Amino acid sequence: MCGIVGYVGNKQAAPILLAGLEKLEYRGYDSAGIAVRNGDGETDIVKAKGRLSALAHKTDQGRAVLGTCGIGHTRWATHGEPSETNAHPHCSDDMNVVGVHNGIIENYQELKAKLMRHDYKFYSETDTEVEIKLIDYYYKKYQGTPVDAINHALVRTRGSYALAVMFKEYPGEIYVAKKDSPMIIGVTDEGAFLGSDVPAILNYTRNVYYIGDMELGKLTPGKVTFYNLDGDEIEKNPVEIDWDAESTDKCGFEHYMMKEIHEQPKAVKETLDMYMNDGKIDFSGLIRNPENSGNPEDKTTLDDVLKNLERIYIVACGSAYHAGAVGKTVIEQLTDIPVEVSLASEFRYCNPKLQKNSLVVVISQSGETADTREAMLLSEERGIPTLAIVNVFGSSIARKADFVMYTAAGPEIAVATTKAYSAQLITLYLLAIRCAELSKSIDENRAKELLAALNQIPAGIEKILEDRERIQWFAAKYANSTDVFFIGRGLDYAIALEGSLKMKEISYIHSEAYAAGELKHGTISLIEHNRLVIGIMTQKDLYEKTISNMAEVKSRGAYLFGLTSYGNYSVEDTVDFAVYIPKGEEVFAASLAIIPLQLLGYYMAVTKGLDVDKPRNLAKSVTVE
Ligand code: GLU
Repeated sequence: MCGIVGYVGNKQAAPILLAGLEKLEYRGYDSAGIAVRNGDGETDIVKAKGRLSALAHKTDQGRAVLGTCGIGHTRWATHGEPSETNAHPHCSDDMNVVGVHNGIIENYQELKAKLMRHDYKFYSETDTEVEIKLIDYYYKKYQGTPVDAINHALVRTRGSYALAVMFKEYPGEIYVAKKDSPMIIGVTDEGAFLGSDVPAILNYTRNVYYIGDMELGKLTPGKVTFYNLDGDEIEKNPVEIDWDAESTDKCGFEHYMMKEIHEQPKAVKETLDMYMNDGKIDFSGLIRNPENSGNPEDKTTLDDVLKNLERIYIVACGSAYHAGAVGKTVIEQLTDIPVEVSLASEFRYCNPKLQKNSLVVVISQSGETADTREAMLLSEERGIPTLAIVNVFGSSIARKADFVMYTAAGPEIAVATTKAYSAQLITLYLLAIRCAELSKSIDENRAKELLAALNQIPAGIEKILEDRERIQWFAAKYANSTDVFFIGRGLDYAIALEGSLKMKEISYIHSEAYAAGELKHGTISLIEHNRLVIGIMTQKDLYEKTISNMAEVKSRGAYLFGLTSYGNYSVEDTVDFAVYIPKGEEVFAASLAIIPLQLLGYYMAVTKGLDVDKPRNLAKSVTVE
């Protein structure tokens, strides 16, 4: 959650900080602030409640705040309501230490009590103010360097943090530290830049340093120095990011979400290309992270693990969990391997019973999702190999997993995921087919057919997108709905879960996904005249069953939207509005059926005049529990 940025160099800092925050605003947007060292050695702090535009206005787009060294923050409140007082940066009373923070300081109350005994006063309700004052306390107590002071504070801190701090006595320097919250650093001739995520600095450099957990850094113009917890210098090499700056622009689309919906054919194709060679799946590059086995010679491949697999656990949150629900169905249809899907926030606290010869697959677009990361570490502690499906290169989940399958979706900015979800589906399909090949539950010909069908998905998505105006029309008509039900069976139920989430998260219309057969066990009492029910019917075997459930709600007054494949035209005998997706392998239907549902959520939100890319109360990557 939240975005932090920093800059020190030969240019004015404030406009650079605001531009960086704008790229990170998807991470949090209830308030924002910057702190800039001016030429007189003083620090100017400007904060504003609300969107970043309020801060930009208050600072005259940054022009009113002068200085070449500064830090900035866009907040997603965890401790204390969104307000100007709670907004970051926070500082010690004498402005000796000024800092911004992403994460949660879990023992902040205990630390606050200690600091209050030393006459520190607190103005905000945040955990962050406590951490900044703790650093100030140790700086003064031991009269050491900023690195010493931060280290002393961190030893006493529990929780997660990405911190960027400036010290009054060290002008032209920014100190950073990180644990379990993301942070990257880039250095050019113009200065040193820091950000929570790549888009914040992509306009300046593609070479980034990843600072590790419990490590510190010092940014000076054109240079970064890293330290460990003992205060010793450590070496790090930059990594080249292959995203280009254009990929974080809207490119003529009104919203990032619509741009990203349209990027799905490309995301699917590029993800497929990463794992295919000569018409076959090629996982030979997926080798176990040697740091995890402690043996640099370890060359265990993912294929080695898949060969002996008796069970798969898929663990994720939000849409990634819904991708996992699709993955379960696909793997179980193509192989004899049982699959369990769990929400990461539940899995990590339920003392999961993980059987031998199993694999834990975690899915996270950002690779920073706190619950997912902890679930993965728990599985590794229990000796179960982990495979992470992640979109962001070098993210903390990617670095700690045994195996990583990257999705090639590129940067996703809209809070509501579309292309990353689609790319996650592709990796899960490839995993399913590979498991089926290795366990011989399918023969070579069937594998070929399935792979050919995967290659058809981008064209299928294109075709659905061409027909988007029908959905737009429907959305305009039904945007005043208050409750919507999405129903389906089997794979269609997994699609319903994601369709429903897309609608509620951006259009604020209450919606629920129900297993179609379950509706009459209670929820059907909510069906009344004109209640919108969306039936997903892509699976031949289940089609008649779900159609019957649709007929049941229709008899009670519901208005029916039916989503099925071309050819099933009899659907129009029952539903009021039919949408068709191209015919293909039914087992991959989620990749096509989700597109009209994404469009529906999008157009309903647009019709209601809502901020599609930044829905209220949400943030893109959930780096806190
Ligand atoms: N815990 C801090 C706060 O509530 C930081 C939250 C964030 O990461 O945005 O201010």
